[in-house]
Amino acid sequence: MTSTPTIGVLALQGDFAEHIAMLRELGVATAEIRVPSQLAAIDALIIPGGESTTITRLLDIYELREPIRRLGLDGLPIWGTCAGAIVLAKQATDLDRPNLALMDIDVRRNAFGRQVDSFEEDIAIEGIDGPRFHAVFIRAPGIERAGAAVRVLAALDDGTIVAAQEGRLLATSFHPELTGDSRFHALLVSLAKVYQAERGQTSK
Ligand code: GLN
Repeated sequence: MTSTPTIGVLALQGDFAEHIAMLRELGVATAEIRVPSQLAAIDALIIPGGESTTITRLLDIYELREPIRRLGLDGLPIWGTCAGAIVLAKQATDLDRPNLALMDIDVRRNAFGRQVDSFEEDIAIEGIDGPRFHAVFIRAPGIERAGAAVRVLAALDDGTIVAAQEGRLLATSFHPELTGDSRFHALLVSLAKVYQAERGQTSK
């Protein structure tokens, strides 16, 4: 018996509602995550865009940092968009408290400076078929280093990495939830199905 996977969206701050709306369009179950007990039911987690300093502070206050980190180490698919990518990264510039440090990437917050703090560009994404992805960058981080196990999915013309994958961890500097293009969300759902199947096997 297969049921649809449940995708959790960290709902402490930021644009979690837009992610939930897009996931609903894909027909999967969703869960807003605010307390540790809610993590037990999910097959993947999205950490949305917003303000990474606020999200990391709230992760501590709600005692979510360690439980999420442990699940990530155990294979839970986790996708961070923009501020979420900062929360997921091994190292991030100008963060005043610990993040999840799960993914072997280093990011520079607000990498694109004030003059171009928001821009949009159509980019090719490795592993995502079809037309270029319309990527919306809002005070976005740049990925400055990607470890040996990290697959670069997209980079800008100047070489700045803006999408990457390490196993079941995904990071994007931009905001697919704001564009109506659900191909990245579908990629996470496919990773969630693998995790869900594994969970089913170990609970037998
Ligand atoms: N600039 C924000 C930060 O550093 C990220 C912005 C976003 O998520 N759109 O956390």
